[in-house]
Amino acid sequence: MVNENPLILKRGLEDEEGAMLLQKERATSSVRPEAMATFIFGGQEALSRRLRALAFIESDPVFDTKDRNYLDQKSRYMRSSEKVVHLVLKCRRLGIPFTQMLDILNVALDEITPTDVHTKMAIPSLMHQTTPEQRAKWLPLAENFRIICAYAQTELGHGSNVRALETIATYEPSSQSFILHSPRLESAKWWPGGLGKSATHAIVLARLLLGGKDRGLHSFIVQLRDLRDHTPLPGVTLGDIGPKLGFMSVDNGFCLFDHVRVPREHMLMGLAEISPDGHYRKRKGANGGEKILYGAMLDVRAGLVERGGATLARALTVAIRYSAVRRQGYAPSPPGKLSQSAPLELQVLDYPTQQHALMPLLAWSFALQITGQFMRRRYKAYLRELDLSLLPEVHALSSGLKALTGEVVSQGVDVCRRMCGGHGYLLASGLPEVFSNYTAVQTFEGTAQVLEPQLARFILRLSMAPTERPKGSGRGAATAAKAPFALSSDFDYVPLAAGKTFVRCRAATPVAFLDPAFQIEAYEARVSALLLLAREEVEADLRGGEGGLAASMMKNGVLFGRLSRAHCQLVLLRRFHEAVAREEGRVTMTTARNGGLDGEGNGGRIDRGAADGSEEGESEDREGSVTVGPAEVRVLRNLCHLFALSGMERDMAEFRARDYLSSGQAEMVSREVLRLNRTVRAEAVSLVDAWLLSDKLLGSALGRADGRVYGALFEEALRSPLNDKEVSKAYTLHWRRLLMAGDCAWGNARL
Ligand SMILES: Cc1cc2nc3c(=O)[nH]c(=O)nc-3n(C[C@H](O)[C@H](O)[C@H](O)COP(=O)(O)OP(=O)(O)OC[C@H]3O[C@@H](n4cnc5c(N)ncnc54)[C@H](O)[C@@H]3O)c2cc1C
Repeated sequence: MVNENPLILKRGLEDEEGAMLLQKERATSSVRPEAMATFIFGGQEALSRRLRALAFIESDPVFDTKDRNYLDQKSRYMRSSEKVVHLVLKCRRLGIPFTQMLDILNVALDEITPTDVHTKMAIPSLMHQTTPEQRAKWLPLAENFRIICAYAQTELGHGSNVRALETIATYEPSSQSFILHSPRLESAKWWPGGLGKSATHAIVLARLLLGGKDRGLHSFIVQLRDLRDHTPLPGVTLGDIGPKLGFMSVDNGFCLFDHVRVPREHMLMGLAEISPDGHYRKRKGANGGEKILYGAMLDVRAGLVERGGATLARALTVAIRYSAVRRQGYAPSPPGKLSQSAPLELQVLDYPTQQHALMPLLAWSFALQITGQFMRRRYKAYLRELDLSLLPEVHALSSGLKALTGEVVSQGVDVCRRMCGGHGYLLASGLPEVFSNYTAVQTFEGTAQVLEPQLARFILRLSMAPTERPKGSGRGAATAAKAPFALSSDFDYVPLAAGKTFVRCRAATPVAFLDPAFQIEAYEARVSALLLLAREEVEADLRGGEGGLAASMMKNGVLFGRLSRAHCQLVLLRRFHEAVAREEGRVTMTTARNGGLDGEGNGGRIDRGAADGSEEGESEDREGSVTVGPAEVRVLRNLCHLFALSGMERDMAEFRARDYLSSGQAEMVSREVLRLNRTVRAEAVSLVDAWLLSDKLLGSALGRADGRVYGALFEEALRSPLNDKEVSKAYTLHWRRLLMAGDCAWGNARL
């Protein structure tokens, strides 16, 4: 048998080199992963929660992912269903509350589950779109998984254009119920996660028809299946939509309603209500549901940005560790000198091209994590104060950031796969699974093409004097027009662009580009130039009288996308610099307090609690926790520089607009990026170690923490079902007919 081959049997020994290479990388790095981890996860308390969640999953064989690569769609759905049920029952048994269970589900389970939509979309809807009575009835049922709820918005015929959804809910006062109906095939609900086979209920978005009047889209909680035997209720046709690129463990489903009766109390009435006799009333009030509803969306988007950073870090952990272990090719010998002994091959991580692909992405993973955490703090502040003035900016920004994160991370994960060469293409690398699941983020909850114009329009309207602002639709735009509202310094460039005040970059040496102020100025100059261009286009369209703002927005969609991305990158850069500056401040304070001993001298322990009141959660840190010291801060600073300069290099045409950068300065930026790539490369293995992804969670033969890559690859190959017999059934059924056909039949075993 193939697995009795002695070469394969002694594979453990052959992998010593991989182990040695990773050890060397770690020994020469100045980063202490455990200290950097405290920074990455926003404090010791958050880190401990994460570690507890991981331990919960890793200690239980039911949650194992080893079989994943060999399961078909149906088996994957079965396994993920088994995992969720086991998790919920175990948490119930151990008295683990719902919020803690969510931590485990979201952070550690490493499975897209049929109940993800239940926990991430349906429960927030039940929380924020309902009356207190409705909440009291439905939330306990949903949180205890007594019902499983899909979120059914998208239809076969319509997704982005929510206004055109066709499912109808007609109110009938005589029976005090709605009649839910799908008028044609295209109005079938199509895509919702968990809808096909798991859900007992769904939050269904349908047009409310009241006395012949269309009141627009409203949400209804609709029972789909019999709670005793799970059969679909009369009038409800349900099913799975079939195999997909990823999300194989989820029953994304379709659903058609044929005049299904839904009790009046099942319309979610937090935002509008219908009296028994059919009187419709929108709800108002200081703590109105709408504010909370939009706030909740920010929480979801903050989660998407953070998760984007973590997903990228996961792919980078595989690609960077493997690039350190993989040797390929030789360093060129100096001219005239021929090497006598066989030279050692290079670690592929030492190729500048490999560094150029991976190091800027490493910087991105930190930028996304930091910004996601910032958004979450803003959301908490908003919940505390319910200050509506914060919403327009944060809502617009979250649209742009969701789009940008989806694009950067999807592409970044695929870059990581490619940087692993052929082995990256194996499912055993873990990367195809990450890519195929993550790339759906670019689609669900809105594509970039739909989201980016929302931020761009917000910026555009800010740049116009109130009298100039054309009338337009859109929540952000409408509120922006009614300034004053809170606006952060992220928009400081807007008046400059409006006043056509353009500066030129004054950097005369590459090192000058390492000044945070220079970098912010460059990003502001770039977004200002795009804003002015967008304004000029829109104003010309409006003067030309060919349609209004909406028509001009559609025509200039590509430019608006660039404007949105440029603004988001400015915001990411600012957050990154602020976070690093905060850590620098803390380290300096500690150094001073310790009478000049630097942070390394006391093991990098610093008291984080008192330093910055804006950092919620950090005050929870326990005294004495290991946090970043001067060495880690230097690395963070370099990562931040790399984020800034590699972004400039990538979008150089935009930074050269209005002559902000000269061609000579552009070359300096590129040179500086190469230097920073080398600097960060030296810390790269420790930096990915800091994300604390266990081998079990990574599920990657290439990304193993011990570097024993080749043995692991073989181990995975031997598990291939094609290797279960020496002679395949395909030979007996097919190949034999060809190889042993008629007069060609071999009489001998060998030629
Ligand atoms: C894995 C996955 C899970 C999902 N889960 C759910 C769920 O639980 N519940 C649910 O209701 N839905 C779910 N969806 C559906 C998802 O929300 C929609 O696919 C998404 O909103 C896009 O809609 P669409 O597919 O109809 O694309 P379309 O709207 O048809 O878009 C097609 C293309 O046209 C472009 N386009 C559309 N409108 C515009 C515009 N105004 N300007 C410029 N370009 C435009 C889009 O950007 C895109 O490139 C899920 C989808 C996926 C992939």
